[in-house]
Amino acid sequence: MRKIKKGQAPNIIKTKNAEFLKEFSKNPDINIQRKWDAWSKKKELREYLAGIQFEKCCYCERGIILTTEQEIEHFKPKNIYKKLCFDYKNLFLACPSCNRAKLERDDNIINPSTTDPFKHIYFSGEKVLHINKSKKGKNTIEVLKMNESDRIKARSNYLEKVIGRQLGLYLDKIKRGEIEIENDLDELFSEKAIYRKLCLDNYGESYKKMKKEIERIKSSYK
Ligand SMILES: [Zn+2]
Repeated sequence: MRKIKKGQAPNIIKTKNAEFLKEFSKNPDINIQRKWDAWSKKKELREYLAGIQFEKCCYCERGIILTTEQEIEHFKPKNIYKKLCFDYKNLFLACPSCNRAKLERDDNIINPSTTDPFKHIYFSGEKVLHINKSKKGKNTIEVLKMNESDRIKARSNYLEKVIGRQLGLYLDKIKRGEIEIENDLDELFSEKAIYRKLCLDNYGESYKKMKKEIERIKSSYK
């Protein structure tokens, strides 16, 4: 989970929201599910949201595949907060697992566009933990089931891919004689600051595992 910059509402939803609010003020008993289902521009909105969310789920950050099954998430559930049904600020893209886990819950969960998630949660190894006394962080992890085995596995697979790539780069450089085997590993990782951050801050456990593996490779070169 990371902070999402929503920016201005795109026209497709701005227009729809204005039209809907007018209708809603006249008829507050409107059938909200039917109204939402009937809206034909969901595909366009999904594409737009995917763009601002780096094609990742707003909660677990798993990559999302834009299919018709991909659900648009109402942060404040539309059945309870009818008025927010077409409110751009309330709409995100979430993977089916997060959507299922969250359902109609909206109690004390991190809103990724208004709250900095890292004030409440952090990664340790492949796990997500809450910061000190953050009830919001604790609750978000529980409600969204952020440490279920499928989530842990997805994070660990991703990390292995990143590590594998870095390891490959490292070995290639050794082969080409561009770096000495004794060079500090951290030096190499600083080339890709983002991976380094990922490995050091977010995925401590796997980073340790990887360091061990690299040490093994290093010693086999000696
Ligand atoms: Zn998700």
